[in-house]
Amino acid sequence: MPDAPLLLTPGPLSTPTAVREAMGVDYGSRDGRFVALVGRVRRQLVELVADPADYACVLMQGSGTFSVEAAIGTLVPRDGHVLVLINGAYGRRMEEICRVLGRRHRSLVCAEHRPVCLHSLERVLTRHRDITHVLAVHCETTTGLLNPIEAIAEIVARQGRQLIIDAMSAFGALPLNAATTPFEAVVASSNKCLEGAPGVGFVVGRRDALEAARGNAHSLSLDLSDQLARFDRDGQWRFTPPTHVMAALDAALTVHRDEGGVEGRGARYRANCARLVEGMRARGFRTLLPDPLQAPIIVTFHQPEDPSFSFDVFYDALYARGFAIYPGKLTEVETFRVGCIGQVYEADVARFLEAVDAAMAALS
Ligand SMILES: *Cc1c(COP(=O)(O)O)cnc(C)c1O
Repeated sequence: MPDAPLLLTPGPLSTPTAVREAMGVDYGSRDGRFVALVGRVRRQLVELVADPADYACVLMQGSGTFSVEAAIGTLVPRDGHVLVLINGAYGRRMEEICRVLGRRHRSLVCAEHRPVCLHSLERVLTRHRDITHVLAVHCETTTGLLNPIEAIAEIVARQGRQLIIDAMSAFGALPLNAATTPFEAVVASSNKCLEGAPGVGFVVGRRDALEAARGNAHSLSLDLSDQLARFDRDGQWRFTPPTHVMAALDAALTVHRDEGGVEGRGARYRANCARLVEGMRARGFRTLLPDPLQAPIIVTFHQPEDPSFSFDVFYDALYARGFAIYPGKLTEVETFRVGCIGQVYEADVARFLEAVDAAMAALS
């Protein structure tokens, strides 16, 4: 086994040294330094996407899905009606959450290599006046597809409905702001484009909606309204806080700001993605998506048609050279994925392309 490989995956990711070092302190949950850190992180997370006068950040222990489930369970009234926009596994996961929670829902299903269809969205909302909430995925990590979130938000707002965005793999790297893309809530986690450690998710939601949802949640631990009330009251979490993960997220936000925030981080990821796509195409690989639909987060490549190609052998050969890639997640075509996010720079992508050459040579 080589040392930890560079993670070219959708998360967890290779993190900055400062993030890993920040986890070396054992804070008590009532430690004033920890309470201040939590307040600082919550404020900064809101400021990345919305006006803190109207929006609040609720942190939630667990992976990103816990926060998605908390947002749906807290914000959609029990007699609400949800429209789920699906063009990949994460849209389907939100549909599954609605089913498990018993929230009435319908789905608008699009092909996985196409953006959500805006005409269909408009038509479904016009026809079904009782739909209260629309659930959308910003970057569909299944393929790496960038959904037209601004246009989706414009339609949902004009139709007078509420929008909940799963921006898990976009938050911190792709621009999103409630001022131009109206949303009730956006959900993300510590360990993707923010480059923190895994273990905490968060929801940035309209404060009035979160407060009005009191008593609505189907779950005690995933009740965002109750969690917000406790943060507001004394800065404490209701249950054991992930102290080390929060210290890591605080450090990650400092690194993010020093890199130039969303713009700086997005620029680095775009450069990684461009270099990766260009280099792989030069080696005969084809991307699943055309460039205009590709988010600079993770790229899906078709597996070579050569029958001697084996993903497992390719994976192992790259791993032995210090790179972890990711299998595809599509049902119809054989693919694999390579991430552009985390502590990855253009020079790493260049080294990765050399490793691809070596792996392909070993395969044939
Ligand atoms: C990673 C991700 C999630 C959450 O996944 P977890 O494994 O629960 O952290 C949700 N939606 C999208 C789009 C993602 O990329």
